[in-house]
Amino acid sequence: MTVLADANRSVVLAERPAATSAAPIAPREADFALVESALAAPGPGEVLLENLYLSLDPYMAAYLLGQHPLGVAVEARVASRVVASRNPALAPGDLVWGFFGWEDYTLLPASLRDRKGYSVLPNRIDPARWPPRAPFSNALSVLGMPGLTAHVGLVDIARPRPGETVFVSSAAGALGQIVGQIARIAGCRVVGSAGGPAKVAYLEALGFDAAFDYRAAEDLEATLRRHCADGIDIYFDNVGGATLDAALALANDHARFPLCGMISTYGEGGPEGVVNMFLAVRKRITLTGFTIYDHYPGRMAAYLDTMIGWMRAGEVRYTETIVEGLENLPAAFIAMLAGRHGIGKCLVKLAPDPLQD
Ligand code: NDP
Repeated sequence: MTVLADANRSVVLAERPAATSAAPIAPREADFALVESALAAPGPGEVLLENLYLSLDPYMAAYLLGQHPLGVAVEARVASRVVASRNPALAPGDLVWGFFGWEDYTLLPASLRDRKGYSVLPNRIDPARWPPRAPFSNALSVLGMPGLTAHVGLVDIARPRPGETVFVSSAAGALGQIVGQIARIAGCRVVGSAGGPAKVAYLEALGFDAAFDYRAAEDLEATLRRHCADGIDIYFDNVGGATLDAALALANDHARFPLCGMISTYGEGGPEGVVNMFLAVRKRITLTGFTIYDHYPGRMAAYLDTMIGWMRAGEVRYTETIVEGLENLPAAFIAMLAGRHGIGKCLVKLAPDPLQD
């Protein structure tokens, strides 16, 4: 094996995060370790990637608790630049994203498949098509998987009609801010919930018709009722638990609920029961769970055409909170799960952005 001079640094899962009834998935910084290893030059067909941005996603918490192997770089969506290639399909300087790891460099196998088995070729970005001033990090947020998830859940599953009321939870997060803006483009009235006044102010600035701080709401159902005078036609559920209960109570007949995620059941604070489910029967509500992997990569190209058009026209804006440095990954991940990281998509930056810096 040829070993390059530079060492590779990785953040590995050192210990399985503990699960208790009070906090089903509560990773601690001590569960992770920073390790160095030799960096191999690419063999025949292989490609060496420098990892520029790492995505911190809620689903990773469950994966770390359950199946993620110990001692290897934590698997994550990563936006990378090709630094050396022995594969004609990718050239130095190409920008791609895929499921790689929390590490400075990744050696991509000759199959050009990431850890989840997806080819990285559909994820090669064309800088000429990128919206003006948009950073490469957008490949992990509004111009990547979170954006596609928001679009599929709202447009394909909920099918919004002008004049309807759309409520979205975790509305200032990676997906939520996109859901709200697409709903507004569809002519809907948009209501969002988020944790804290800064996030609420952000939603109002984005053009949400109403936004509220769910953490400060003494009575969630009463608060939601104040903001949804005509009831709820679509609830895009990112959090489950008490918010889902309140949305069931406020739902109109034949409401549609795309069930995207239930972070209140897998983040800090423990699981919350849903007691209003019987209302789904009485109100003939359609609850549709979905996973984006049923729509990826097939739907990505068409989604990008649509979203890049909206961004170029100034109809969709997007915010990310970016932390710098591999060593800060565990703390940033824990803060993201608890909603303490700031507004929008949470990312860690390891090296200059080729589209910006
Ligand atoms: P976010 O950027 O929204 O980050 C998670 C946020 O959830 C936190 O920052 C926090 O913000 C909020 N939160 C944490 N705990 C609670 C709680 N108990 N009640 C309410 N809100 C809470 O993440 P994403 O946009 O990436 O993901 C949103 C949801 O979509 C997640 O549930 C995720 O698992 C799911 N998902 C599903 C996919 C699919 O294929 N179905 C694909 C991608 C994501 P705050 O300060 O507002 O509390």
